[in-house]
Amino acid sequence: MTVRVFAAATLGQIPLVYDPATELTHMPGRNVPAGRVMLDDEEVAGWHTIAQRQVNTRIPFNLCWSPLVRCNLHCPQCLDDKTLSESGATERERIADVLATSDVLGHDISGGEPLLLQSLPQLLKVLSSHRAAVSCTTNGWHLERRAEELAPVLDAIRVSFDGPDAASHDHWRGTGSFKRAVAGVRAAVTHGVPVQLHTVLMQSTAHRAQSVADLAADLGAVGVTFLQMLPIGDGAGLAASELVEDADALRIVRSVQPPHGLRVRLRTRELAEGFTVIRADGQVYHNVRGATGIHAIRPLVTAADLHLPLPEGAGR
Ligand code: SF4
Repeated sequence: MTVRVFAAATLGQIPLVYDPATELTHMPGRNVPAGRVMLDDEEVAGWHTIAQRQVNTRIPFNLCWSPLVRCNLHCPQCLDDKTLSESGATERERIADVLATSDVLGHDISGGEPLLLQSLPQLLKVLSSHRAAVSCTTNGWHLERRAEELAPVLDAIRVSFDGPDAASHDHWRGTGSFKRAVAGVRAAVTHGVPVQLHTVLMQSTAHRAQSVADLAADLGAVGVTFLQMLPIGDGAGLAASELVEDADALRIVRSVQPPHGLRVRLRTRELAEGFTVIRADGQVYHNVRGATGIHAIRPLVTAADLHLPLPEGAGR
């Protein structure tokens, strides 16, 4: 049993519990008080999941904020738009304040590489000051160095792995990346931060899914999320050769035998459609139908700017 922080709220008259490690939102099987709550993750995992499209609300359950374009790595499958200009420190503080006052249940700070931000602990603290659960998605390079400082303000961390060993991971992320990411996960676990491994399923990496799950268990992670590759950013150039169809991805992930205590899930492209991202330029972006692209909608001025309709046909 692992007791950790979740976010609970009622949206569209449906009680919801958001898991900052898996990004999944559940319908609780009992009365859960609103706000940041400590829950047994085994109990939460047993509750049915629900998507925003199934609830009468325009408030996203969770979103990703990418305050940086900068990254210390150069992965060919990166989703980021490196041409965007980054907002400065004052604008980042303003955005954190706006997000904190929204009714969104979960905020994930991604990048670029979020651990390059010195002010990351302060931003996470602001984001969790209302009721949301907070996480980061990182390549793990700087995690060993910053785990102790981040542990008090992080509800979960997601660390990206493209393979279960140095040869397969570093092929995509560069020499030394695997060693640094492993050291980072170990440090986060040591400091009590729940860790979720993230692996993008590609044609040339999918056959290692079981080994990634085994690695996650060895490192003490709570779970693995396999993500369907999205043809966005640099990833668009790889899609023709590396994209795995949803049916194949489901088959691959279902074939993984989860080591004891580890949860394994697939984030399909369908689940990614309509997802809300605040990018480094301070604008609200939305994944289009099928998550085959991402569009800027409007600048984030108030929390109401997050209330977007889902793409037409989403959840068909
Ligand atoms: S995928 Fe992540 S680690 Fe790789 S270049 Fe993009 S932001 Fe950096």
